[in-house]
Amino acid sequence: MAPMAEQLKRIARAVGLRRARIASARMYVERHALATGSRGRRRKHGRILCYHSIGQSWMGVNDVTPAQFRRHIELAFQAGFQFVPAAHVARYGGRANELAITFDDALKSVRTHGAPILRDYGIPWTVFVISGWAEQRDAFTAENALGWRELHDLAADGAGAALGSHSVTHPDFGQLEPSRMRDELEGSRDMFEKRLGFRPTEFAVPFGQSRNWPAAARTAAAEAGYEVVYAQAEDTRPPGTVARTFVTRVDHDRTFTALLRGAYDRWEEWY
Ligand SMILES: [Zn+2]
Repeated sequence: MAPMAEQLKRIARAVGLRRARIASARMYVERHALATGSRGRRRKHGRILCYHSIGQSWMGVNDVTPAQFRRHIELAFQAGFQFVPAAHVARYGGRANELAITFDDALKSVRTHGAPILRDYGIPWTVFVISGWAEQRDAFTAENALGWRELHDLAADGAGAALGSHSVTHPDFGQLEPSRMRDELEGSRDMFEKRLGFRPTEFAVPFGQSRNWPAAARTAAAEAGYEVVYAQAEDTRPPGTVARTFVTRVDHDRTFTALLRGAYDRWEEWY
């Protein structure tokens, strides 16, 4: 890499880490406040968790350590939950004690740290792939994102992983022209077909917040052939989407247990 590019990368990393520390502090305060305030609500259907990376700390608040991830699973079992595929909850609602695990961005650590833990417990899981990253055309994606071959192996019989789309380049659909939306939605299905031989019918909204999924995106996704669109908070998600609960690095025993009780069902990330 040229010296200038190397320098830019170092700066970006430093800025990212500073932002991550501020975000982490604020999230910690908010999550604990909500955990204190929540009594839990009666629930009639299953819950889908959304993780990103397992031990890739540059992901900031969206990274959990392998030990933390294992602890979350143990806490869920102790609380009486069973794990089911996300598609089951998305399509049928599931029961109140059913929980599903999904990962956005298809990062390498999902395979190296997440998959072995999930295999230990026999838990099914879903990965949402940024198809342009899976092509691994640059040093960053080659280093950090899963390639098509690895994704193929994860989805192969016995590994327990289902694959869905997370767009081609991870744009904010709240800022996109409809023609670009089509490129991102249909383009990703095309790449899946070319590389893995199937067209995914499930999509996770990049950034996942309600402002990232306008009505035009909902129409474009249906026209592109997606049947299920995963977003975020239970009470604030856009029409036509399936709720997920984002899990972050600030979630240890107290806040994760509160999360399972629904303490964050009105909560969205703010950046
Ligand atoms: Zn994402």
